[in-house]
Amino acid sequence: MKEVPNILWLEEIRKEDIVSVGGKGASLGEMASIGLPVPKAFVVTAQAFRRFLVETGIEKKLFTAYDKLDVEDNEALEKAAENAKAMVLKAKMPPTLKDEIRASYKKMETGNLIVAVRSSATAEDLPDASFAGQQETYLNIKGDPALIEAVQKCWASLYGARAIYYRAKQGFDDHTVNIAVVVQQLVHSEKAGVMFTSHPITGEPLTIIEGSWGLGEAVVSGSVSPDKYVFDQRSEKVVDTLISNKKVEIIADGDHGTKLVDVPQARQDAQVLNNAEVAKLAMYGKIAENHYGIPQDVEWGIVSGTFYILQSRPITTIGSSKGAKGMSEQKQDAKILVRGQGAAPGIASGKVVIIRDVKDTGAVKEGDILVTRMTNPDMVPAMRKVAAIVTDEGGMTCHAAIVSRELGTPAVVGTKTATNVLMTGQLVTVDGEKGLVYEGEIAHEKPAQAAAAAVITGHTQIITATSVKVNVSIPEAAARAAATGADGVGLLRIEHLILGLNKTPGWFIANNKEDEFVRELHDGIKIVLDAFPGKPVWVRTLDAPTDEFRNMRGGENEPHEHNPMLGWRGIRRDLQSPDQFRLQIEAFQQLWKEGYDNLGIMFPMVSHPDQFTAAKEKMRALGVDVENVTLGIMIEIPSSAIMIEEFLKCGIKFASFGTNDLIQYTLAIDRNNENVADMYNPQHPAVLHLIHDAIQMCRAYNVECSICGQAGSDPKMAIWLVEHGIASISANIDAIAKIREAVAKTEKRIILEAARSRDAE
Ligand code: PEP
Ligand code: MG
Repeated sequence: MKEVPNILWLEEIRKEDIVSVGGKGASLGEMASIGLPVPKAFVVTAQAFRRFLVETGIEKKLFTAYDKLDVEDNEALEKAAENAKAMVLKAKMPPTLKDEIRASYKKMETGNLIVAVRSSATAEDLPDASFAGQQETYLNIKGDPALIEAVQKCWASLYGARAIYYRAKQGFDDHTVNIAVVVQQLVHSEKAGVMFTSHPITGEPLTIIEGSWGLGEAVVSGSVSPDKYVFDQRSEKVVDTLISNKKVEIIADGDHGTKLVDVPQARQDAQVLNNAEVAKLAMYGKIAENHYGIPQDVEWGIVSGTFYILQSRPITTIGSSKGAKGMSEQKQDAKILVRGQGAAPGIASGKVVIIRDVKDTGAVKEGDILVTRMTNPDMVPAMRKVAAIVTDEGGMTCHAAIVSRELGTPAVVGTKTATNVLMTGQLVTVDGEKGLVYEGEIAHEKPAQAAAAAVITGHTQIITATSVKVNVSIPEAAARAAATGADGVGLLRIEHLILGLNKTPGWFIANNKEDEFVRELHDGIKIVLDAFPGKPVWVRTLDAPTDEFRNMRGGENEPHEHNPMLGWRGIRRDLQSPDQFRLQIEAFQQLWKEGYDNLGIMFPMVSHPDQFTAAKEKMRALGVDVENVTLGIMIEIPSSAIMIEEFLKCGIKFASFGTNDLIQYTLAIDRNNENVADMYNPQHPAVLHLIHDAIQMCRAYNVECSICGQAGSDPKMAIWLVEHGIASISANIDAIAKIREAVAKTEKRIILEAARSRDAE
């Protein structure tokens, strides 16, 4: 058998080489072999690592050191891991190997090329490399000594305590586990982003490209609203271009790490990609998709006109982003630490960080599990970083649940005890679908596999007579929401946009910063409107209970209310706060003037038609052409359901059930109270009764009747609503695909049944 060399260049690698170059190395090699412009790279093979162990004489010492180790003895495990790592780090790399690495590095480019050094797991049957500890990455490595050191550090990472423990539990023979190291040119992109090679839900041959300035991290992490380009593979044309205001970019910070900086004004609104660049990227996307036989999620970067494809993997479906879909049987033996409601689907493992006060959110690190009594709007920056969220309080419609779903972060809410039972630093696995938190890290299927299956099954566009729309609360979720192919936005909650500014509307007014408030509102809503050209976007006027404003600047002036849910919120507050209402209308008016006639306005918490009329008249007085814009109401107080005909007579253009509130006000069940959560029943006969009657009345007046409460994201409820004649359903991003399918099936069944009964006559 041919001996495997110490170094393999990407061009020499095929996917069969996985035992020598690991998963990462093999997949990069595969991409290079089909002609994708992958940044230059070589792999220090697993065999090189083995030779290093043998030639330095540490192989035997290394394994006898922990052969009799009881991995359950934490202290002993930590010590054995430290010793093993030190042994690998201290051993002198054989000069021939060192020379080979140096020569390869030199061959990449003359001068001091900056590279990334990454470990690459080689055991094919390791379910997830992260569990084996083979996940080390050293960025910005420059020069021979630093490179040699980084390679050795990657090798040493094989002997982390967690890795040893995991392998022991999985029955791996540690004597034979190997590791490869990928050394790759680091691309300091001037512009970068992501690309879906086909439409992620419908599978249509539409390539969707998002791009912004600087490194792609800014787009991937959602720190910036990127430009969006849609390229139709059939006509080979760019069919849609949306230019966003790109406020920030991530760039290299000297030789070490990266930093987030403001984009200079001149480039903020400049178009990132021209049509030729879009077409070229789409072509690379097509090459990858054809080769792998399945739509790909691709990361790309461009430096001085040179294109790079940095990563290509099967599309993860909208909504499954951070968490994986299923878990292996392991979970059956795993200990459940706390239970709550599964509020945002996905599975993630990480270290617990308990946050008792918003001021402490600085302690939250990327990939942590955020555990807190209840999330607050000012915690959103921390919520963006974490792998999962667990709360003591709240239900499916609380702040944590809504924001987590939009961020695509798994969440379990209403556990009652998480902040007492869990401990900071503890390793746990969160199942956001089932509402469970397990002890330790539990293996789960890679998201890509589950997602790939979802993409295959979702290949054909489903057309429904009932509109299927999407709910949005944070503008950064707009692109993901639009990628679902939804028929519009059935609810844009602007309070999340305001709450994100960390100052109350009252603060802006009191500090003569009205323009800033209007601008923020205008810009945030515009992002969503731009993502849904030609489709209706119903923006709801402010509806934040006073307690949500409390922690913000200006929050000290918020009244203390016994029951904020029944208090000064929604249209009641706006009608009594003329300035606050006026500023919102100014933002809407600007957008209408800019030609966004797809913007509709929805008033929350109306309990009497007089409130609708009063709001409409105030808008008229502020110069709005009220008869020609779309104004509607939410039905979320039983009185508005009961009095729907009077509202229709007042000229509402649409009505939408806010079932989150309608249920709590009909059943007297606080939606955020975990003690009564099991009585919070969206299908309670009284609730269904109100909904049924209101739908029929809207139909009689030919007015669109919709739903935007959480109940609309439940396929069972969607079926019932279609059967009862609802005109549209607005669901969460993660639920769109299943709701669309439920709606389509129900519509077809209704048609079929009608045809059959006609035939029978
Ligand atoms: C509702 O009440 O159903 C609704 C959609 O509004 P919110 O959840 O913001 O109260
Ligand atoms: Mg509501």
